[in-house]
Amino acid sequence: MLESVRIVLVNTSHPGNIGGVARAMKNMGVEQLVLVEPKEFPSEKATARSSGATDILESARVVDTLDQALEGCNYVVGASARGRHIPWPVVDPRTLVEDIVPQTEQLQVALVFGREDRGLTNEELHRCNRHVHIPSNPDFSSLNLAAAVQVLCYELRMQVLRQQRNPTEEQPRWGTEWDIELASADELQLLFEHMEQALVDIDFLDPNNPRQLMTRLRRLYLRSHPDKVEVNVLRGILTATQKLLDKQN
Ligand code: SAH
Repeated sequence: MLESVRIVLVNTSHPGNIGGVARAMKNMGVEQLVLVEPKEFPSEKATARSSGATDILESARVVDTLDQALEGCNYVVGASARGRHIPWPVVDPRTLVEDIVPQTEQLQVALVFGREDRGLTNEELHRCNRHVHIPSNPDFSSLNLAAAVQVLCYELRMQVLRQQRNPTEEQPRWGTEWDIELASADELQLLFEHMEQALVDIDFLDPNNPRQLMTRLRRLYLRSHPDKVEVNVLRGILTATQKLLDKQN
């Protein structure tokens, strides 16, 4: 049930933490690990800290960009230790897994974790449908990377076990099943690029003073989880707008 969940680590500095993450994942039955530009990998330190979860390390995919890590995902969650200047929908780990696990048949989920020293950048956080925050001590809120992955993977496993004990929970909640596949992160990224260009074309967005316009539009669309047809309709509207403009000029 957890095959469709991938753990994405961005720019991890300490290979020991990658090993700790692999161990945490394997303990809880989560298998897909994607590393975005790790400082040092493969590494003996990672292998040692994995305590035998070497299969997770060996099958880990190493990529250059977050875009590559998110390819094909239609539910992207950024794990964040603190609030940001522009609010985003935030859930706690249990609420998150109650949403995700009953729908894993339809979802490809990425749980994205940040750098040990700086977390995730705003740009990375703005790629996410949701943020997840482990409600830690506000005066000391940041967990070790592998500890944060452990909490999330534990909650995923607990939800799977709850569903196995109570199979009615296994069904998606009434009204949550969808007729069309959700758009993937890469399709949404293309939509946002297209939208930005069209808004510049119609002089709504000033490229020299973009403010938070695209961030706010991203937040709007990402929190509503558009499906593939909806994204095609939006792109069709943008194309028609641009064509009309071309005709007039
Ligand atoms: N110093 C960084 C935190 C780095 S901890 C900062 O202030 O942002 C490394 C990663 O672990 C974070 O990027 C986040 O993905 C995860 N993490 C740590 N504490 C967390 C918490 N309380 N809730 C959710 N994720 C957390």
